[in-house]
Amino acid sequence: AKSSGGKGERFFTAKMEAQIEARHTLEADLRKAIEREEFELHYQPLYDLGQQKICGFEALLRWNHPTRGRVPPMEFIPLAEEVGLVVDIGRWVLRRACRDAMDWPEDIKVAVNVSAIQFTNSDLPSDVAASLAEAGLPANRLEIEITESVLMENLDEALPVLHALKQSGIRIGMDDFGTGYSSLSYLRRFPFDKIKIDKSFVNGIVEDKEAFAIMRAIILLGDALGMRVTVEGVETAEQLAMLQREACDEIQGYHISPPRPAVDVPYLLAWPQAH
Ligand code: C2E
Ligand code: CA
Ligand code: CA
Ligand code: CA
Repeated sequence: AKSSGGKGERFFTAKMEAQIEARHTLEADLRKAIEREEFELHYQPLYDLGQQKICGFEALLRWNHPTRGRVPPMEFIPLAEEVGLVVDIGRWVLRRACRDAMDWPEDIKVAVNVSAIQFTNSDLPSDVAASLAEAGLPANRLEIEITESVLMENLDEALPVLHALKQSGIRIGMDDFGTGYSSLSYLRRFPFDKIKIDKSFVNGIVEDKEAFAIMRAIILLGDALGMRVTVEGVETAEQLAMLQREACDEIQGYHISPPRPAVDVPYLLAWPQAH
């Protein structure tokens, strides 16, 4: 058996301690981030292929840390979920997104990402209602995006929440469609307004027949079920042109624009004229 206290093991322990320490520091900073106003929403356009115009924006959370600079959501959202902070952060996101959308033309909607924890550990329908009422935003201009993990955690608990949200008049989209185990079975259990096909499926659609066949089949599936179909991660004009010929309703991606601060929305609305 391995003897304890060896050099390698001590090193390993010290490294683990440093990681735990770093995590605690990040958690402490995250707890103060709302009141210190370190969060910001950036907006990425949703482009309607039929109307050939921007039809909405997805709100994407940014954390401007005083010393670390901008911390990517993938680094702090999982932590916020683990320690329960994502409920407060999620409320902040909803309120801010609804308020920001009030400055936009009436036909422009706003999409907000919602974490599984917000479904199970908070009263999401009343948070949504409060955010809409406070801003004065009509419910049909708000869309929430959920991933399959929301449903996997506890479908019996999530379904009534989804139905209550839908009843309130907001739209509900399934995000990262195609990446989970059981996306397809969920489509039968809940009438999503929209599916958002994960960006991994866009890779290669221009060059590779098989990649395109898969993309096309997913689009047709969503369309056949009467859902709006969005493709995310569109990075080139060639990809846009190919999707334009399919039953794809909406695209999003760097080709149109990366997420930008709220002040840039008026400029983004002019796409493609102003670019
Ligand atoms: P998501 O909801 O799938 O958001 C799309 C991500 O893809 C964004 O990353 C966006 O910047 C990026 N993206 C957009 N267009 C392209 C493209 O053409 N190519 C490539 N390669 N990437 C593109 P971001 O902003 O870093 O957000 C990462 C994830 O963090 C989001 O994935 C979402 O799951 C989560 N997130 C962001 N904001 C929030 C929030 O307010 N609440 C919650 N619960 N999660 C959030
Ligand atoms: Ca999303
Ligand atoms: Ca996504
Ligand atoms: Ca459609």
